[in-house]
Amino acid sequence: MAVSGIGAYDPDNIFAKILRGEIPCKKVYENEWALAFNDIGPKAPVHVLIIPKGPYVSFVDFSARASDDEITGFTRAVGHVATTLGLNEPGYRLIGNVGPDSGQEVPHFHVHLLGGHPLGALVS
Ligand code: IMP
Repeated sequence: MAVSGIGAYDPDNIFAKILRGEIPCKKVYENEWALAFNDIGPKAPVHVLIIPKGPYVSFVDFSARASDDEITGFTRAVGHVATTLGLNEPGYRLIGNVGPDSGQEVPHFHVHLLGGHPLGALVS
């Protein structure tokens, strides 16, 4: 399902249900502002999704409306997950899809953290 990167937040999206504990996830990390869990369809040996706990549709929405504390807490969660999974060396990839052209499927802002093997060049 293609979604817009902006607009009204759908409280019934699948990540909102995960945050409310209505459907399970394989949790990797959680802090006050963010939750990290394994992607259900991994595209690499490590494929973790990190989501803010607040109701943001996409990065453009998060960057515009989230508080400084939320942005800091979310950013630190991403760094913490990458570090604790041992990915800083040899490296990893962060992807954030926004809107239909990106293929964003779930209308709750999230970052994909991919690693665990050579990922190749995304843009060359
Ligand atoms: P998007 O295309 O950037 O919106 O990515 C959505 C991601 O969510 C995809 O990689 C899916 O595999 C993943 N996903 C969908 N449902 C679940 C779930 O219930 N648990 C974990 N990951 C999910």
